[in-house]
Amino acid sequence: MSSQIRHTTAELQAMDAAHYLHPFTDHKDLGARGARIIERAQGVYLWDSEGNQILDGMAGLWCVNIGYGRTELAEVAYKQMLELPYYNSFFQCANPPAVQLAKAIAEIAPAHMNHVFFTGSGSESNDTVLRMVRRYWDLKGKPGKKTIISRINGYHGSTVAGASLGGMSVMHEQGDLPIPGIVHIPQPYWYGEGGDMDPEEFGLWAARQLEAKIEELGEDKVAAFIAEPIQGAGGVIIPPSTYWPEIKRILAKYDILLVVDEVICGFGRTGEWFGSQYFDLKPDLMPIAKGMTSGYLPMGGVIVGDRVANTLIEHGGEFFHGYTYSGHPVAAAVGLENLRILREEKIVDYVKQEAAPYLQSKIASLAEHRLVGEVRGVGLLGAIELVKNKATRERFAEKGSTGTLCRDLCVRNGLVMRAVGDTLIMSPPLVIKPEEIDELVAKAWRCLDLAA
Ligand code: PLP
Repeated sequence: MSSQIRHTTAELQAMDAAHYLHPFTDHKDLGARGARIIERAQGVYLWDSEGNQILDGMAGLWCVNIGYGRTELAEVAYKQMLELPYYNSFFQCANPPAVQLAKAIAEIAPAHMNHVFFTGSGSESNDTVLRMVRRYWDLKGKPGKKTIISRINGYHGSTVAGASLGGMSVMHEQGDLPIPGIVHIPQPYWYGEGGDMDPEEFGLWAARQLEAKIEELGEDKVAAFIAEPIQGAGGVIIPPSTYWPEIKRILAKYDILLVVDEVICGFGRTGEWFGSQYFDLKPDLMPIAKGMTSGYLPMGGVIVGDRVANTLIEHGGEFFHGYTYSGHPVAAAVGLENLRILREEKIVDYVKQEAAPYLQSKIASLAEHRLVGEVRGVGLLGAIELVKNKATRERFAEKGSTGTLCRDLCVRNGLVMRAVGDTLIMSPPLVIKPEEIDELVAKAWRCLDLAA
């Protein structure tokens, strides 16, 4: 008999309230409404336990890149579970899917990145980053190079290292973070923080905050700079065109490693395989997760450039780091099948040539709405920033209330978007069709009208 018993929505909500501690949730708020139980999904749509059909404008949590309901992934997982459900990749062992996945990822990564260290999530990937860059500099005879520079409002996960690398003050306030050896510089958020500067001027200013911080700390103390190509959870913040070229110049000048967090941008989101290729970056390390398996099973990793990998391999001895589920065979088999689908169905080309230009042209029209201050986006990432006054960019008195209201109206009207303060963000599955983009934008308009 199956262990899955069917319960009514009310029964599930009661059990949920009694037993389930949710991530990133105010339980008092949850208790009042009861959790929305999502029961099934297909393509870009979800169905909740009340039978409501909802367009998933967030691809889960930026992860279901190939869309829901791909039976091929279930089939490879089933076969792999029967063949080898688990074995570790510690102590001179490996399994076929993990080896094949490492090779397949190296093929799509920038040319100088040929190795993968597997993890179980994006947060674990960033824990690995922290340890790996410090190990690298130790091996290079520069043990003083320990500090990692990150950005305010960046997101790199929720473990102690991930939350410390991230620059979310609300996370830092809970638990005495960041840990020592991690410092933050301003984000390249022109619409919100650019003041009188034009975007290009502001991009240079924001990048030069890195140089100022390196000078302040001393280059012999700085190990790496970590950043998302586009800040996702911070509100889809797209750096001005001058930002990344200036960052590259500064890192080369001071010989500091570049870590590009590809957990959201990786696996096609920008219309390139990785955000690093979209912005023409040459990272030393790229943490990945999410789209790596399209979220069908948990898996993450760090793609490691030759400079760091060769040092670890040739001079490192044993690296005392790894996770029980590093290179999990079932997750790796799913990752491999996900990559086969992305490649054979040319989904990344579809994003670049069709879906992204269409989505961006459609959401641009939302800028005409009287609640909307700015619409921005790259690939299949988008943000709609709401303001009280378009001309002056004046914010709402109660920060986040309008964003939350719109988000809730959206869900009630069959669309998932997320609210980051008063910014609505979207990141639909990469396979979204033009008519589904029309539906997404029409529903977004309707909710803005209802909120206005
Ligand atoms: N890095 C980035 C850029 C992310 O957006 C996230 C999650 O949203 C993470 C890391 C953490 O990934 P996970 O939630 O799988 O630990």
